[in-house]
Amino acid sequence: MSSPLFPVFADLRGRAVLVVGGGTVAQRKATALLDAGAIVRVGAPALNAALTALVSEGRIEHLHGTFAPRWLDGAWLAIAATDDDEVNRAVAEAGEAQRIWVNVVDDARASSVQIPARVDRGPVQVAISSNGTAPMLARHVREELETRLDASLGDLAELLGRERTRIRARHPQIGARRRFFERLLSGPVPRLLRQRQRLAAEREFSAALHEAAAPARGSVVLVGAGPGDPGLLTLRALRVLNEADVILHDRLVSDDVLQLARRDAERIEVGKQAGNHHATQEQIHALMLEHALAGKRVVRLKGGDPFVFGRGGEELEVLRAHGIDYEVVPGITAALACAAYAGVPLTHRDHAQSVRFVTAHFKDSHTSLDWAVLAQDRQTLAVYMGVAGLDHFAAQLIAHGRAASTPFALIENGSRAQQRVVTGTLSDLGERARTHDVQSPALLIVGEVAALANTLHWFGDPPLGTADARVAEAA
Ligand code: SAH
Repeated sequence: MSSPLFPVFADLRGRAVLVVGGGTVAQRKATALLDAGAIVRVGAPALNAALTALVSEGRIEHLHGTFAPRWLDGAWLAIAATDDDEVNRAVAEAGEAQRIWVNVVDDARASSVQIPARVDRGPVQVAISSNGTAPMLARHVREELETRLDASLGDLAELLGRERTRIRARHPQIGARRRFFERLLSGPVPRLLRQRQRLAAEREFSAALHEAAAPARGSVVLVGAGPGDPGLLTLRALRVLNEADVILHDRLVSDDVLQLARRDAERIEVGKQAGNHHATQEQIHALMLEHALAGKRVVRLKGGDPFVFGRGGEELEVLRAHGIDYEVVPGITAALACAAYAGVPLTHRDHAQSVRFVTAHFKDSHTSLDWAVLAQDRQTLAVYMGVAGLDHFAAQLIAHGRAASTPFALIENGSRAQQRVVTGTLSDLGERARTHDVQSPALLIVGEVAALANTLHWFGDPPLGTADARVAEAA
C-alpha cells in the first residue's frame, strides 16, 4: 500500500500559479486560486468567455498557444486542466523537472500534489482526500460535513482569532485554556452567532473569559420535523438534533426523523392526537422547563412547522417568562408537503390567487370559523383536520356558497411511504373518505387546484378512484 498523502494548507497570496487549459474546469480552478489571493496565469490556445472576461478585467494573465515548459517559470504551483492527456502529462513532467508542484485534474497518479475536496467555513477549512483511491467517497464525506458544520463556524473562528491575545493573557496555562474553550463551545456563544446576535455573543464571550466555570445553561430549540419524510428536514434541524441532550417529540414526528437524532439523547414522547391526550400542554411546559433548568440542551420536536397549528407560540411564552434561551427552526408544514407530494399547486394563475391554512380539528372549532370567507371562490383551502368532521365541513362550505362541484384532495400520511390521496368534489367528500377508510393524519385541500392531483401526481399511487388508479390496480 502506498503511503498516505501529507496534508498542507498553502499560502498562495501574491504567488504565481499556472493553470493550463481554457475551459470550464480551468475556469473553476482559476477562480478558486484568485479567491486564495494567487497571481493566476492561464495558458491555452483559446479561453472560454468567463476566462476571457477575467483577462480583460486584468485579474488573470493569458499565455497564448500550446504548453511550453517556460510557462512554469516563476510559478509555485501548476494545475493541468486540459482534456488532452498528453498536454497534462507534459505539464506534470516539466513541473517535476523544475520542482514545481503540479496537480493534474482527475489524475492522481500523474499529480505531485492533489487538491482536496473541501468544506469552506471562512477561516475554518476542512480538506478531505482519499489519496485518489475513491474521489466519490471523499465527496460523500464532504457532503456529510457540509450538513454538520453550521455557516456560523466561520464567525466563531473569527471571534476566537480576534480574542486570541486576551484568551492567552487570561489563561496562560494550556490546561486551563483548554477547559475554557470547552466551556465556551458548549455555552451560548456559538448559538448567539448562529442567531446573528454578534454583540450579545461578544458580551457572553467576555463574561465567559472572566468568570470561573459557571454551571451549564440549558436551552430549548423548537424544531419543525416536517411531515415525515426525513429528506424534508432542514440542515439546521439535523444539526440541532445531533446536539440534543433531551428530545421532547410529538406523536406526529416520524421514526425515520427520530433515527437521525443523537444516539444518546433522551427521547420523550409527549404526543397529542385529537381527543387522545398523552400529555397536556401544561405537562409539556413543565418537562421543557425541568430539563432546560437542569442545564440540558432540549429539542422540542414537532410535526410540520412549530408555528403552524403547533402551539409553538405558547411554549415560547413560557420559556421567555422563565428566562430560558430558545431558538426556532422552521419545518415544512403539512399543507406544503401534502400539496407537493400530491401534485397540487396551492396557487395557480388560472384557479387561485390565495391560499388559507385552516384548522378544524374539533366540531366546536367549526362554529368559530368564518364560513362566508372560506366559501369564497378563487382561493385554496388547506385544512388541518380530523376525518370525523369532513361531512359537516363540506356541508357548511356548500351552504355558504361554494359550488358543490368544487374539487377536493384528501391526503393521508402525506410524504410518507404509506401516503394515499383521495380526490373528488365537495358533494361527496365525506362519503369518499369513508369508502377509502381515510385515517389521521390527513390534510384536506379544497379548490380548483385539487383536481390537478389527478394529472400531476408523482409520488406513490395515483389518487384513489381515478382512471389512473384503476389502471394501477389492474396492473
Ligand atoms: N404543526 C403541524 C400541524 C399540526 S396539526 C404542521 O405544521 O404540519 C395536526 C394536523 O396536521 C393533522 O391532523 C393533519 O391534518 C395535518 N398533518 C400533519 N402531518 C401530516 C401528514 N404527514 N399528512 C397529512 N396531514 C398531516
